[in-house]
Amino acid sequence: MLPNSDHDLVPATIPDRLSGLPDVARNLAWSWHREARIVFRSIDERLWHAVRHNPLKFLDQVPQARLDAAAADPYVTGLYDKMMSWFRHEMSGAGTWFSQNWPEQRSTPVAYFCAEFGLHNSVPIYSGGLGVLAGDHCKAASDLGVPLVGVGILYRAGYFDQRINLEGRQQDTDERYDLSLTPITPIAGPGGVPYLATVKTFGRDVHIRAWRLDVGRVPIYLLDTELEENHPDDRPLLSKLYAGGPALRLRQEWLLGVGGVRVLRALGIHPQAWHANEGHAAFMLVERVREYVSGGLAYADAVAKVRAASTFTTHTPVPAGHDQFGPDQVEACAGPVWDDMGITKAEFFEIGHHPVIDHQTFHMTATAIRLSRRVNGVARRHGIVTRELWTSLWPGRPSDQLPIGHVTNGVHLATWMANHIMQVVDRTLGADWGNRIDDPKTWDRMLDADDATLWFAHRSLKDILLNLIREETRRAFVARSLEAPQIVGAGVMLDPNVLTIGFARRFATYKRASLIFSDAERLRKLLTDPHRPVQIVFAGKAHPADNPGKDVLQQVYQFTRDPQFEGRVAFVEDYDMHLAHLLVQGVDLWMNLPKVPMEASGTSGMKAALNGVPQLSTIDGWWEEAYDGTNGWAIGQAGVVDDDAVTADRLYTLLETEVVPRFYERDERGLPLAWLTMMKHAMRIAGRFFTARRMVEEYARDYYIPSMTGAGAADDPPTA
Ligand SMILES: *Cc1c(COP(=O)(O)O)cnc(C)c1O
Repeated sequence: MLPNSDHDLVPATIPDRLSGLPDVARNLAWSWHREARIVFRSIDERLWHAVRHNPLKFLDQVPQARLDAAAADPYVTGLYDKMMSWFRHEMSGAGTWFSQNWPEQRSTPVAYFCAEFGLHNSVPIYSGGLGVLAGDHCKAASDLGVPLVGVGILYRAGYFDQRINLEGRQQDTDERYDLSLTPITPIAGPGGVPYLATVKTFGRDVHIRAWRLDVGRVPIYLLDTELEENHPDDRPLLSKLYAGGPALRLRQEWLLGVGGVRVLRALGIHPQAWHANEGHAAFMLVERVREYVSGGLAYADAVAKVRAASTFTTHTPVPAGHDQFGPDQVEACAGPVWDDMGITKAEFFEIGHHPVIDHQTFHMTATAIRLSRRVNGVARRHGIVTRELWTSLWPGRPSDQLPIGHVTNGVHLATWMANHIMQVVDRTLGADWGNRIDDPKTWDRMLDADDATLWFAHRSLKDILLNLIREETRRAFVARSLEAPQIVGAGVMLDPNVLTIGFARRFATYKRASLIFSDAERLRKLLTDPHRPVQIVFAGKAHPADNPGKDVLQQVYQFTRDPQFEGRVAFVEDYDMHLAHLLVQGVDLWMNLPKVPMEASGTSGMKAALNGVPQLSTIDGWWEEAYDGTNGWAIGQAGVVDDDAVTADRLYTLLETEVVPRFYERDERGLPLAWLTMMKHAMRIAGRFFTARRMVEEYARDYYIPSMTGAGAADDPPTA
């Protein structure tokens, strides 16, 4: 509950005039609709922010008087009516891109399996980039009318909350969230049993319940094992994301893949295209082979059928990042599934056999590639890296002739672009620009945006970010008795007039968060320049088991409290989608320093670019495709692996000679015209190409439709 809140203990009664609010609150579509975002805020702004934009929590706590006043306020009811007519139109599914292009397939389901979905911070079942990408994929599929059905896991303990202690060490705390204030609905099984499917693992039957989460027109079925009917040891199997060791992880993946297919069958959903997003979902393919064999097909024919309908997307450019499990574990978890597949145990292990590394382990990526005809990486460079990584599966072939493609990632524009910036786009492109976003010429006109309008929109977003940082720090000061250096390190001395660099992402070592501190004196000069100072805001979590990542975080944290930087370096705790929004919208420059070629794509820079925030990055992932000299800065050369010292030196030089001078060069109105031009180019390029809409269009056209219709090149399966 809120401190000092005037919260009524009984939830308020929704006035008739606003009777649609609960329905809207139960479908995440509200989160990417402009009017809907404002409706809740205008009913009770303080509460809306305090509940971190969770509309169910909001409706649970909003005082009756506020609702009644809103129902009588023409401004709110006007927004509400706009929202409701959009909501009804959205749900009708009329005239979508997909149904216009493929009317025959418009009701043929596409199953999309992923171990995490990042849709909104009020549904904490994601940890980072992979989940947010999957969430953006579902939202764009809803917009386009792609008949997608998601399958994932309901992690009841959420992802961990991050607190940094005085020593700068990350403390991970579980916070179980309230399912009744989460927009999910449990689905009962046949005869009223609470589960829909049963999967045998480690010698026991595990019953699986599914909850439905609505994302616009796309339902996501979230699996859950916390049931009385399950053995007490099995109930928490799916409670935590990426927790525990490989044995638990394996069982989660087994339940997701096998249980997910069975849940779809129990619901009468029979997809003709199946998409495994990352290797965690590969057992979905195994289960479908088993189904075909049980139905009477020979094993080889079953594999051919499964391949024909399946797409596999890999996200991991480094061999060590791929899941693989020991044979004993796999046997205990999955055995004796081979009997049902018409093969021997040895043949089963062949499916997951990696041709180069250890003969013994069961490799999830190898499994997914063997059982999917369509395989892709997530950026052009990552496609090349992936083909090189997997040449061993097609022995004797040059890597550029492997049947592995790429679909460059994109982000969901309506989720990530701030309303303030959308207003600038309205003024520049015309209010109906939403209907013309597939035309590249639309985005070229972003260059005509009015300088002052764009600058003031950006400045208000920066104020919102710095206000949030101050308010969160104030709350933490009260709740946890922070000491002065911690308060400085949390960012209360940040100045809205100063060039602000954002760096927020998972603290994996290859992302090199501490690189900018490698020459502390050179950095100090930049940050504390009396005329043209710079400040940096960091955020991000380290994986609970990643001690080197925690070390980097600790290093960065210690710099935030170092007086030589004069309070110009901040670390904001608890990076989630909410904070991600404010950061990508509110900083001046987005910085990204992955070690090439470790970043498969990267997406936070795309979110920043959509908001007119240019990026400074090493040339890796999406930046190799996006950078053209107008929309930000690049360090190094495409495809060249650099060492840290060289990258750091180039980074400082760019900041000193180009970035800082351009930001502080102002015209007589105080506008940084050259910087604004770069902001417009960032929007032009991101809007044109780096959206989830463009990405899902590619998946639909080149992957899902060929799966459904059998069109496309002949199957070219691995030979090893
Ligand atoms: C977008 C996003 C990410 C992924 O960012 P990268 O640039 O791909 O590392 C991670 N976490 C959150 C909360 C995000 O919104």
